[in-house]
Amino acid sequence: MAIDILALAAHRDDVEQTCGGTLLKMAERGYRAGILDLTQGEMGTRGTAEERASEAADAARILKVSWREALGIPDGCVENTWENRLKVVRVLREQCPRVLILPYWEGRHPDHYTASILGYEASFLAGLAKLDLDQVSVGQRFADKALKGRSFSRAGGDSDKSGALAPESLAPHRPFKIIYASLYRDVRPTFVVDITDQFETRFAALMAYKSQFTDQEAGSGIFPAQKEIRARVESMARYYGTLGGVTYAEPFVQKEIGLVDDVLAIPVKSI
Ligand SMILES: [Zn+2]
Repeated sequence: MAIDILALAAHRDDVEQTCGGTLLKMAERGYRAGILDLTQGEMGTRGTAEERASEAADAARILKVSWREALGIPDGCVENTWENRLKVVRVLREQCPRVLILPYWEGRHPDHYTASILGYEASFLAGLAKLDLDQVSVGQRFADKALKGRSFSRAGGDSDKSGALAPESLAPHRPFKIIYASLYRDVRPTFVVDITDQFETRFAALMAYKSQFTDQEAGSGIFPAQKEIRARVESMARYYGTLGGVTYAEPFVQKEIGLVDDVLAIPVKSI
């Protein structure tokens, strides 16, 4: 069954920090939400990749997410390669999300902004009718061949679907909407999502990462104490909530213009 909204992020727990409340809210409205983590978190100061996998599954249950997967892209080394784009293309075609949440395209951590570009470019590729994943292997050694080879060079535009794919191949799919979760970056959001009713559950999802957020000796110099985390998460959510005239919210940026049908129904008061 297709997913309605998919959040892609570099690391397990990124989604919980930046847009978990929004995913939960959509799930509560009956939409199918999913999370794609590009890495498995093996470079983290605290915890192992295995611990993070089970914590990520716990967090997904708390957020009522229907589908979650971690690609095996090396942690700390997320690169926008052809091979990695194809891995994301496969997920987009399998899960067919209408809305894709990507990390904001600038940031401190290279994995975060690279994940953003990678996700965008994979979304474009995923819609190309003549990009046949069965013919362009995800193996690195096929990179050049795929770009020059017949499966790619014969593409005459993504609207022409004639003779493009074998019946068993994954059909082309491009998300209708891409929005960027901007919480990690100090930019003015285009819009915020009211997560007042989801805030506590979202915080519980973050705390499911016990290996990361339980007070402990390892990494105590770089990780704030749990009490401090609560204060920070709450202040950020309150700040964006204030911008939207609600208690708690999560910020997003969209590149497109906003389209309004009924100007009397525009929310957030001006004065
Ligand atoms: Zn991260």
